[in-house]
Amino acid sequence: MKRLIFILFAICLIAIPSEAKRWKAKHVVFIGIDAWGAYSVKKSEYIPNIRSLMDNGCYSLKKRSVMPSASAINWASMFNGAPTEMHGYFQWNSKVPDIPSMYTNSRGVFPTIFSIMREQIPNAEMGCIYEWDGVKYVIDSVAVDYRDYAPDYRDDPEHLTRMAEKYIKEKKPTLFAVCYVHLDWVGHHEGHDTQGYYDCLSMLDKQVGRIIQATKDAGIYDDTIFIMTGDHGGVDKGHGGRTLLELETPFVVSGKGVKKLGEIDDVVMQYDTAATIAEVFNLKRPQAWRGVPIYSVFK
Ligand SMILES: [Zn+2]
Repeated sequence: MKRLIFILFAICLIAIPSEAKRWKAKHVVFIGIDAWGAYSVKKSEYIPNIRSLMDNGCYSLKKRSVMPSASAINWASMFNGAPTEMHGYFQWNSKVPDIPSMYTNSRGVFPTIFSIMREQIPNAEMGCIYEWDGVKYVIDSVAVDYRDYAPDYRDDPEHLTRMAEKYIKEKKPTLFAVCYVHLDWVGHHEGHDTQGYYDCLSMLDKQVGRIIQATKDAGIYDDTIFIMTGDHGGVDKGHGGRTLLELETPFVVSGKGVKKLGEIDDVVMQYDTAATIAEVFNLKRPQAWRGVPIYSVFK
């Protein structure tokens, strides 16, 4: 009997995927905020949840977007680890590359963090939800298990958050991206750096708090790394140009195994986002990627 128990115990040990032991955390929750200019962080009066992630983790307020400073281009770089010239998305609303991507995977798309995770960790649970459906064209959407969107954000600004809460609690995802676009709409209609813009940021901060709480309710908070950033900033009622107001967005990493350094001096580029997530899961990065992990944030 003792021998049988020993054999069963040994089998269990072998069965635990060794890859998981090399991960820095079992879960990454990525929160992307469209048009979140870095300039706004110091001027925001009430973003307690975001400030808590920043103060208890690491952040840069100089992460730079790729040119041009518009949406599809930068959501692409964020997820696929490469600059504009390589992935080929040049328009704010490109659905396919405007020039052929320099490299494509077996599905014919420039490999994203979701692509490489699916290939290297086939059983990973991955989701991506968004308020702007342009996001779906730049993530290698068939690689994810769950993909959905909440287009009614102006009438129901918490719709996306409820979807996120449900998915986190039900599936405890390995990698989950939640992409809000409400702030971009306010930027275009009321303007950047306006009271309406800061009010919207406070509203989004509340959503961040709910997502963090959902990981606690799901029992995964202690094994989760949170990453927050934006695709671009903005000035007046637009973006797309080459001012730092448009190009600089916050980059925040916080949670399991992340140092509490506050503001870091590392140079951070849009395409380092994918590489940093890859580092959490010990993924081999495609040769075509140009992003590098921000190693300094990890213990
Ligand atoms: Zn955008």
